[in-house]
Amino acid sequence: MKVAFIGLGAMGYPMARHLAKEHDVLVWNRTRETAERHSREHGTKLANDLADCANAEVIITILPTSKEVDEIVDQLEPHLQRGTLWIDATSGDPNVSKVTSQRLESKGVQFVDAPVTGAVVGAENATLTIMMGGTAENVERAKEVLKHNGKTLIHVGPVGSGHAIKVLTNTIMGATVWITSECMLLAKQYGIDMKTALEVTNAGSGRSNASENLLPMRLRDGKWPLVFKLLHHDKDIRIAASLAHQQHASTPMLALTQHLFSGALHQLGDDADYIEVAKIIARMNGTTWD
Ligand code: NDP
Repeated sequence: MKVAFIGLGAMGYPMARHLAKEHDVLVWNRTRETAERHSREHGTKLANDLADCANAEVIITILPTSKEVDEIVDQLEPHLQRGTLWIDATSGDPNVSKVTSQRLESKGVQFVDAPVTGAVVGAENATLTIMMGGTAENVERAKEVLKHNGKTLIHVGPVGSGHAIKVLTNTIMGATVWITSECMLLAKQYGIDMKTALEVTNAGSGRSNASENLLPMRLRDGKWPLVFKLLHHDKDIRIAASLAHQQHASTPMLALTQHLFSGALHQLGDDADYIEVAKIIARMNGTTWD
């Protein structure tokens, strides 16, 4: 199948690599050198310009937000062919996706929102969980392509529902990272060493992905790699807050989580990793994790 892949960032780069094992993959990236490198390393075809992507049977985007996806749709719209399937793997805004889907529909192009979870390691190992919004027929078509990127592919509901559940699960993760970091800091200040505090937490009812996988390397071992930008995580939580607003919902925990993450982003900057919010918690208490 001819697949055009747009956005070779931390997630897109390895995802396009896996697809190239089975499909005829054309790559386009804003910074062209990255696409050139991908083509060299993984035998993908280099798009001469963005319009080349319109000739593919399937177009995949994975960009920071729905805004950048919209800009790409604007540029590709005059060139699009009827029957093309557009899969947006960005963690996007469901309200924007619905509008995008309608725009594309008028051109005979079908749309599926298919955000992913499992981090860069999941993209590298093709073990992502992929949640999809669209018609049953379009989702079946999308699965045929995305099965090379993920182990668990779930049809969530109509267009937008993939994006909706993605931001909601990331909000759960954000709140869990924050509260677990707070409690680990209290344990540390009480004099309990971090190894023991995490060991007990992970053997008991407080355990989570945060306590088992995300925090030990940072809080215990002092390693703070950049694996997922706080900028993107904050965006996800803000979209979740906008869904709550739209539903007139009472969600104080979600609202607080959004304020905490947006505040942390202002302090840490766009290039910080999302788990660095733990540094803000330490700073709020006049200490560090060292
Ligand atoms: P990166 O920041 O690593 O990559 C972003 C990609 O988008 C790059 O290819 C970048 O191009 C491109 N891009 C940025 N701005 C524009 C623009 N204006 N026009 C065209 N292309 C643009 O992001 P990730 O790969 O980490 O994340 C992508 C999406 O996946 C986000 O929505 C994120 O929330 C989601 N996600 C990320 C995970 C992670 O662990 N990283 C996990 C799950 C989901 P260039 O190379 O030129 O900068």
